[in-house]
Amino acid sequence: MSKDGFATKAIHIGQEPDELTGAVTVPLYQTSTYAQEEIGKHKGYEYARTQNLTRFQWEKNLAALEEGIAGFAFGSGLAAIDSVMKLLRAGDHVVMAEDMYGGTFRLFDKILTNFGLSFTSVDMRDEQAIRNAITPATKMLYTETPTNPMMNLTDLRMVARVAKEHGTMMVVDNTFASPYFQKPLTLGADIVIHSATKYLGGHSDLVHGIVATNNEEIATRLKFIQNAAGAIPGPFDCWLCLRSVKTLAVRMKQHEANAMTIAPVLAHHPAIKAVYYPGLPTHPQHNLAKEQMSGFGGMISIELGSLEAAKKFTNALSVFTLGESLGGVESLVCHPVSMTHGSVPVEQRQKLGITDGLVRLSVGIEDVEDLLDDIYAALAAIA
Ligand SMILES: *Cc1c(COP(=O)(O)O)cnc(C)c1O
Repeated sequence: MSKDGFATKAIHIGQEPDELTGAVTVPLYQTSTYAQEEIGKHKGYEYARTQNLTRFQWEKNLAALEEGIAGFAFGSGLAAIDSVMKLLRAGDHVVMAEDMYGGTFRLFDKILTNFGLSFTSVDMRDEQAIRNAITPATKMLYTETPTNPMMNLTDLRMVARVAKEHGTMMVVDNTFASPYFQKPLTLGADIVIHSATKYLGGHSDLVHGIVATNNEEIATRLKFIQNAAGAIPGPFDCWLCLRSVKTLAVRMKQHEANAMTIAPVLAHHPAIKAVYYPGLPTHPQHNLAKEQMSGFGGMISIELGSLEAAKKFTNALSVFTLGESLGGVESLVCHPVSMTHGSVPVEQRQKLGITDGLVRLSVGIEDVEDLLDDIYAALAAIA
């Protein structure tokens, strides 16, 4: 059987029928330990922080989707990021994107700096800025693309070139695109990270993180860190991910189709000052998006001009739910300044364009006519 297509892999890799019973769904191994036959003799399963088959199958699945050699699951996206940063040691320096998920910035800025790591944030669209920030201590280039919430893109091939030249690791947070639309390991990254809370989980019912790599040495070290530091997920969340990922392809297609219908409507509406969506030909990096992504995703940010307009708009929506997070089947609307990006300093937010009037839409997979009606009504409420 050919198993090369993305949707086929999502449904079959790591999701083979159970050997013992033939169950077509991977069993949930909700156990902490395993019976051993005699001292020193067991089936390769000793303790569930180290070995859990439900988790292993999900890690194998995601690694295949990202075209990596190994995957490692964690209790949240931030636990995944924190564990990846444990590849570094005191004295190491990281060049990071200035426009990232607020929680990642907070982890780096408020916690990891206490352990002797240092960070320089740069505009990852600017190759010279990246090069200028690199020092002899730089061990990692860390980026996110498209970024949250400004939808800026990093040219992953360009960053990979710089990383190779300087012998640094390259890490990409691929949460917004999902492996369905973008595979950073195939473009030169060493490590790809997901908050599986978002599109991979896809149903707003779990918090989970996962990492994939195509580098043997990094895989060995991550496996050690995952077990030694212990930020693993529970097996049920892995089981939910295995179930969710089976529909990732169809969900992503629909997220994108809905976003591609909504974005141009927003772009032509007089109440909206700016629309940030890489699928619009007016997006400054639309061509790059076409080159390195196979689709534009379901996230759109809009500038409404003021906090008052943002409040009126979000209050008037009824199909879109006001809330943090993204990537679920249900449409969500978020106000980054007061929600996800509260921990980013004001000057930094202003520089990036994260204003009081900025609103982020996670376009769900409901009927697009209903989503449009909802948006039209909410825009009318601003006027
Ligand atoms: C949500 C998010 C994270 C953090 O993941 P959690 O699962 O909430 O810990 C990291 N990166 C991006 C881009 C995110 O959207």
